[in-house]
Amino acid sequence: MKQDRAIRTAKDLVAAGLLDAARRDEAEAVAKQYAIAITPTVAGLIERDDPNDPIARQFVPDIAELSVTPEERADPIGDLAHSPVEGIVHRYPDRVLLKAVHVCPVYCRFCFRREMVGPEGLGTLAPEAMDAAISYIAAHPEIWEVILTGGDPLVLSARRLAEMMVRLKDIAHVKIVRFHSRVPVVEPERVDDKLVAALKASGKTTYVALHANHPRELTPAARAAAGRLVDAGVVMLSQSVLLRGINDDPAVLAELMRGFVEMRVKPYYLHHPDLAPGTAHFRLSIAEGQALVKSLRGRVSGLCQPTYVLDIPGGYGKAPIAASNVEATGDDSYAVSDWQGGVHQYPPAGSY
Ligand SMILES: *Cc1c(COP(=O)(O)O)cnc(C)c1O
Ligand code: SF4
Repeated sequence: MKQDRAIRTAKDLVAAGLLDAARRDEAEAVAKQYAIAITPTVAGLIERDDPNDPIARQFVPDIAELSVTPEERADPIGDLAHSPVEGIVHRYPDRVLLKAVHVCPVYCRFCFRREMVGPEGLGTLAPEAMDAAISYIAAHPEIWEVILTGGDPLVLSARRLAEMMVRLKDIAHVKIVRFHSRVPVVEPERVDDKLVAALKASGKTTYVALHANHPRELTPAARAAAGRLVDAGVVMLSQSVLLRGINDDPAVLAELMRGFVEMRVKPYYLHHPDLAPGTAHFRLSIAEGQALVKSLRGRVSGLCQPTYVLDIPGGYGKAPIAASNVEATGDDSYAVSDWQGGVHQYPPAGSY
């Protein structure tokens, strides 16, 4: 069934055949805490007969979301600890997050900012707050890159995006503007000529980091939307979250990364899931993540290798956490493992 409007309530989920009527109360209880939204495109991707459908699991609420474990926290990556003015997160010297909007076209059940996004979340930056955020960027010459995230910045109209780009264009020290978005996948028709044009500004390089977690999200329409961005000169990167039951499988990850590369989206980050409240059912251990990432190396093109990262809880930033292939074994001597598990001494023995 093709929906024509986004699904936003438990009732809508039942009507769309995405939720058993017997589970409606549970979904309603979850919805009181965390917003629901599923675009028609995403609803159309869900296999109704598969109780473990990897698309459904990302977007259809589950009662497990109400079980909060002791290590989980409302601000898992410590955004608030590094926010000098509303809407700005300045954790690293040369780049800031600009969170213009806290709305998304879909709400991911594992969202790391789930306490901030949604219709009841932090909303859209008020004009005065946006002025203050832009002034902060203008006043800090070390800011080389502005990363628009949220929420999903591409829910803003082309007119609003163009206005923002014009304001950034006037700040000479900002060279790179990066958008993090799910829109090309979940609402590809939004990426029209006007929106694409709005993301470009003379003198700035625009990057779009596309969030997708399963190869089935990379539909022909999504590929065409990314194609319109890349054809216009936008550089595209991927970001995915490693999720139990969704992409914790070497073949699925390989197909996802190959899909990105095919659509001219360079794999960038594979995130270890954050400690967001009620997301324990999605998490795997770092050891499991390392084994999955290792399975890609060598077996799949180097173009398809993302960097496996953890956002260290508390606001300490991201750290690459893939297992190392090199171990120091003495003075300037190392054991280096190859992709098939063979271990080699470096420099090779007897090479003096
Ligand atoms: C993730 C993040 C960035 C971007 O990090 P990159 O490694 O450059 O992709 C910047 N600022 C904050 C606060 C972040 O959380
Ligand atoms: S699109 Fe990003 S910010 Fe929005 S719900 Fe999903 S993970 Fe959270």
